[in-house]
Amino acid sequence: MQGKKEWSRVLYGADYNPEQWPIEIIERDIVLMKEIGVNSVTLNVFGWGTIQPSEETHDFDKLDFVFDLTERNGIGVVLATPTAAPPSWMLGKDPTLLKVNENGQRVTHWSRQAYCPNHPLYRKEIRNIARTLAERYGKRSNLMMWHINNECILHCYCDNCAMAFRAWLQNKYGTLERLNEAWQLRQWSLVKTDWQQIMPPVGGMTHTSVSLDYQRFLSDGNLQGFLAEKEEIVRITPDIPVTSNFYSIDFLGQIHQDWAPHLDVISWDSYPPHNDYAVWAAFQHDYFRGLKKAPFLLMEQASSNVNWKPYNPAKRPGMMSLQSYQAVARGAEAIMYFQFRQSRGGVEKYHSSLVSHGTESDNRVYREIGKLGHELEKLDGVLRTRIHANVAILFDISLIWLVDWNKTSKDLVYREAVTAFYRPLYEANIPVDVIRPQSDLSDYDVVIAPMLYMFEEGVPENLRSFAERGGKLVMSYNSGMVNGCDVVEYGGFLRPIEDVFGIVVEEVDALEPGMSNRIERSDGKSFRTDKWGEVVRLNGAEAIAVYTEDYYAGLPAVTRNRYGRGEAYYVSAHPEDAFIRELLLNVCSSAGVKPHIPNAPEGVEVSVREGKGRRFLFILNHNRAPVELDLNGVEGTAWKDLIQGEPVGGSITLESYGTLVLEQETTQG
Ligand SMILES: [Zn+2]
Repeated sequence: MQGKKEWSRVLYGADYNPEQWPIEIIERDIVLMKEIGVNSVTLNVFGWGTIQPSEETHDFDKLDFVFDLTERNGIGVVLATPTAAPPSWMLGKDPTLLKVNENGQRVTHWSRQAYCPNHPLYRKEIRNIARTLAERYGKRSNLMMWHINNECILHCYCDNCAMAFRAWLQNKYGTLERLNEAWQLRQWSLVKTDWQQIMPPVGGMTHTSVSLDYQRFLSDGNLQGFLAEKEEIVRITPDIPVTSNFYSIDFLGQIHQDWAPHLDVISWDSYPPHNDYAVWAAFQHDYFRGLKKAPFLLMEQASSNVNWKPYNPAKRPGMMSLQSYQAVARGAEAIMYFQFRQSRGGVEKYHSSLVSHGTESDNRVYREIGKLGHELEKLDGVLRTRIHANVAILFDISLIWLVDWNKTSKDLVYREAVTAFYRPLYEANIPVDVIRPQSDLSDYDVVIAPMLYMFEEGVPENLRSFAERGGKLVMSYNSGMVNGCDVVEYGGFLRPIEDVFGIVVEEVDALEPGMSNRIERSDGKSFRTDKWGEVVRLNGAEAIAVYTEDYYAGLPAVTRNRYGRGEAYYVSAHPEDAFIRELLLNVCSSAGVKPHIPNAPEGVEVSVREGKGRRFLFILNHNRAPVELDLNGVEGTAWKDLIQGEPVGGSITLESYGTLVLEQETTQG
């Protein structure tokens, strides 16, 4: 963010789509925005067809009008380039601009994101519209940020993309011989003798190596479009920060870590599940914060229900507010919604908004939004403070799909395997950064690598030197199986760093439902395992738990090895949660890593943000019932409730879904 305009308030607002509304509604909406503390709106996300109704004409009347009104009312604008929704005149001009889906069918234009991201016409037009917007609005006093595209990952399998994919591969592998070898194409006579023989993997996953590279190519192709727009914008408005809102990690194909260096600030859209939302969201806040190790923006959330899941329950009273505070507690500097006013037509008409059909502003959800808006006005001090974590979880986004494609068991799900190791740390209120395996690990005492199936280039060396320097490394089963092309290395599993763990993995065993095993720790305590087991041979390590059943009874299940100045643990089975919890808490404790509040009640989340001589403690009650909490065990004294403006201490009560934001009076430093 160096050299860029910064905001001085926690941003609060929503996507606002004036193209859907007549002037009198827009005027009423601005009044409502002021009423509930909205200080910023995201404009023009899908407004291309309105501001450029034909190739030759532009019509900025409504956008100008909204800019004027927001400017007069002290509301900032996050201005979107509308390039996720090219208008009909453009798509009609060249039918090959419409994307081809993964089944090889060209789509029709009845939705946003119907374009081919690699089409030369698209690339030309997005530059034009980005430049036009920057020239027109770049000097507006309330322009705060650029928002390029929207959830910018397009999947296309057309001829343009085939051509671009070949060029991408030539750049990566150089020669066909290298590509044939890297992907092991001699098998099944798949060897390619001409680049033209390489087609996109239509029909879904076909060959895992080509499918993996195709996802990387799609991420890069979309990134090239983003960079083209950014170049136009930055040339005209070098001081305005640029972002692009990421969708959650469930979205195939966007490799956020490759994008992150090009964004001034990370932003993401959070649509958590109704049940178990807290861990789901916490993990992703930690992940998106981890991309730049910096605060991020919650660019979209729903005020209540969404409309696109199989079931769409309303957020219970207090839940939306709690989820918003959770984002701030874990690094957010903006709480924004999709969208301000509920659309009347199309697929999003039942997606909740700030102003709803029917009762508009006279309802529970609106009142809760207003209360939160005015509370957040008291939290400006948290801006640009940090979260300090001594523990990292390694997470490779591409394994969500790669593990799925390579399933030797239907029950092997990467997200679940990672969550099994994240959850106990979350529940113990131990701060964690979620980072990619190639990241610099020197800030961490403990690094956990659940099911790190693929070792991309540089990863084994990174893990080795972390342990050498004295770090504690924990890795779980189905790790180190393949290289970055999804090909097994000579020597087999974990081969590049099996000496770090002091073991040899001899055999893997993907269990059926109903099959299980048990592992016994050296203290005699026994735990159930299911889904997976591995036959492991010690080669310098010690077993801290052994299998007790089946043909590998008596063999090591969980091992520890001293390596360099550190230690490396390997968990070869899928044990019940209690085992993982006790193992991780022991490893953390032996590394001197402690929770913020010892023995916080179950369902109470605690997070600390600090910096600029200030320290903020967030306490969030995810329980439906009130809880009692003793602040005496918390490090430091002299806490002030930032919302109520009063000192607090000793025993306190947190309401159902209640939040407490405390600031510690510290000496300046
Ligand atoms: Zn295409």
